[in-house]
Amino acid sequence: MIIVMKPKTKQEEIEKIRVRLSQLGCEVRDIKGLNYHIFGLIGNTNLVDPDRLLANEGVEKVIHVQEPYKIANRLFHPEDTIVEVAGRKIGGGNFAVIAGPCSVESEEQIACVAEAVKAAGAGFLRGGAFKPRTSPYSFQGLREDGLELLKLARQKTGLPVVSELMSVEHLPRFIEDVDIIQIGARNMQNYELLKAVGKTNKPVILKRGLSSTIEELLLAAEYILAQGNNQVILCERGIRTFEKYTRNTLDLSAIPVIKKLSHLPVIVDPSHAGGIWWLVEPLAKAALVVGADGIMIEVHNDPVNAKCDGQQSLKPERFASLMDSLKELAKIEHKNI
Ligand code: PEP
Ligand code: MN
Repeated sequence: MIIVMKPKTKQEEIEKIRVRLSQLGCEVRDIKGLNYHIFGLIGNTNLVDPDRLLANEGVEKVIHVQEPYKIANRLFHPEDTIVEVAGRKIGGGNFAVIAGPCSVESEEQIACVAEAVKAAGAGFLRGGAFKPRTSPYSFQGLREDGLELLKLARQKTGLPVVSELMSVEHLPRFIEDVDIIQIGARNMQNYELLKAVGKTNKPVILKRGLSSTIEELLLAAEYILAQGNNQVILCERGIRTFEKYTRNTLDLSAIPVIKKLSHLPVIVDPSHAGGIWWLVEPLAKAALVVGADGIMIEVHNDPVNAKCDGQQSLKPERFASLMDSLKELAKIEHKNI
């Protein structure tokens, strides 16, 4: 439930309403803007009587939130959420570019890719240290050593780093070592993991599950938000459909839909969606035009010999030329890149 206060309502009247709502047993969230004050109620609102609330002079309207996700709902936060990481902004008209290899393989590899993507204008470095592979016999990542190498690359380039967390057990290490925690598609509904990252104040990229609906994605985000962490970035990375040509089907319509339903930034991962290197460029461009707040792209200095996802990785030169096109498109779409 949302309670919208009239503009210019006195602070004591606002406080009076807040106290009353708390007494009725719901969790009250304040949503404040320059000229508005809104209360967002979470939990059991059975005891809240909208008519009695409306009898208060300062109450403008009471809205029932139909959707099961509340804090992620745009009704709870009319303005775009902007997540700030090391002085860089994600959301609210900024187009963030996260690039790097699928997995960290060696000091030379991650340093080389980091330098290249930075030179091309990427704002963040990605690199998997713990890899969720479909086969247990595939390369599983360098694990803690991978995080060390990512830190070295960050030191050299100044790029904040993104890496995937797969287990609560590794969370303390990730809090220390990475700038943004990635929750992968396979763990989108690992609710204990979501609650654990929700208790931190680290920005989180939450990827859409392999066969998840938009509502399930927003409810997964709600798990993180409900624990107090509001720095959540959603990521559309393609979903399973009957089509087999591409690795997944990029659900481009999810972007404007999510932007309508939620205030959270949404980025696109065209690499895991298309699954083939030459699809990355058109899908990345489409992502910008359709309103995404950024992209996450796999780049490798030697895709043919990559330990993971070489077929969908861009070489640094191609990534640089994609960045040039994106910069042109950003001008037309009034986005900061
Ligand atoms: C990844 O980004 O490396 C990854 C494994 O992606 P997803 O979780 O979307 O499959
Ligand atoms: Mn990958």
